[in-house]
Amino acid sequence: MSAIILDGKVTGKKLRENAKERTTLLRKQGHTPCLAVILVGDNPASHSYVKAKEKALAEAGMEGRSLRLGGETSEAELLGVIKSLNADDSVHGILVQLPLPRHIREAVVINAVDPRKDVDCFHRVNVGKLLLEEPGFLPCTPHGVIQLLREHKIPTKGAHAVVIGRSNIVGKPLAMLLARKEFNATVTMCHTGTKNLAFHTRQADILIAAVGQPGLITGDMVKRGAAVIDVGVNRVSVAGETGYRLTGDVVFEEAAQIAGWITPVPGGVGPMTIAMLMLNSLSAAEIRYGGKCGT
Ligand code: NAD
Repeated sequence: MSAIILDGKVTGKKLRENAKERTTLLRKQGHTPCLAVILVGDNPASHSYVKAKEKALAEAGMEGRSLRLGGETSEAELLGVIKSLNADDSVHGILVQLPLPRHIREAVVINAVDPRKDVDCFHRVNVGKLLLEEPGFLPCTPHGVIQLLREHKIPTKGAHAVVIGRSNIVGKPLAMLLARKEFNATVTMCHTGTKNLAFHTRQADILIAAVGQPGLITGDMVKRGAAVIDVGVNRVSVAGETGYRLTGDVVFEEAAQIAGWITPVPGGVGPMTIAMLMLNSLSAAEIRYGGKCGT
């Protein structure tokens, strides 16, 4: 293996320690940052994500207020919960764990969260600010990817970044961020309509896979020396106690022979997402008590 491993656990820990120090300062002023996490239904992956968030909040000295609602909860009931959290001054951030049960409209719920408490940066107001480069939250996973590139001094200026996936939470915002003058990458976005995916991926100095398909990116699709960022988290069935193992979209063993840098799954982008969530939640509280806007 020749690639340098981009260890999100190490970089994420540094960022969480920074969040912890800032939280201590805020607590000395009598304010404990609080993130409310709403989970509807019993999706096993969502349960484990919420647990990881609760643990990170506790370690940073922040309050995590988890609301676990049954899968039969109606959209109106969920909107009622969000309304009361919006009005609660002791809650600084609100996160609705996705996906929601099919009978609840995701867009309606996301846009019901007070934008000042929208630490996921999914609300249309915050997405607009991101696009217009106005100060505000940045979405956790794309921002986590940017921080990993920064930490490892991976050049973005003039680099060709190929982002696979156009979701509102990963692909689109990440493409927007990389194209900012600050990072100055030339961005290609690939998706289900892309013809000959490998033609594009082989040109990538920075290759970002945010698809959700195990094994999609094989070693022969990677340019020598590229930075390969695997956002995908897929549960693949295996024999054993849990019955599954986590894997990304990239065939790690193959890509690591060719790439210059590569993220593992698990332990790459995932811990960075959590660290950025801690920082956004903290920022929401700091802003409330007179701090600057932005993360
Ligand atoms: P999504 O399902 O909303 O979007 C997937 C995208 O992939 C779509 O835009 C689609 O056009 C594209 N796509 C699908 N098949 C393709 C193909 N064969 N070729 C090219 N493009 C293709 O997904 P999402 O919410 O952005 O999540 C993507 C993956 O990232 C999932 O595995 C998810 O679990 C993971 N994820 C990880 C984190 C993290 O913190 N590590 C955070 C969010 C999402």
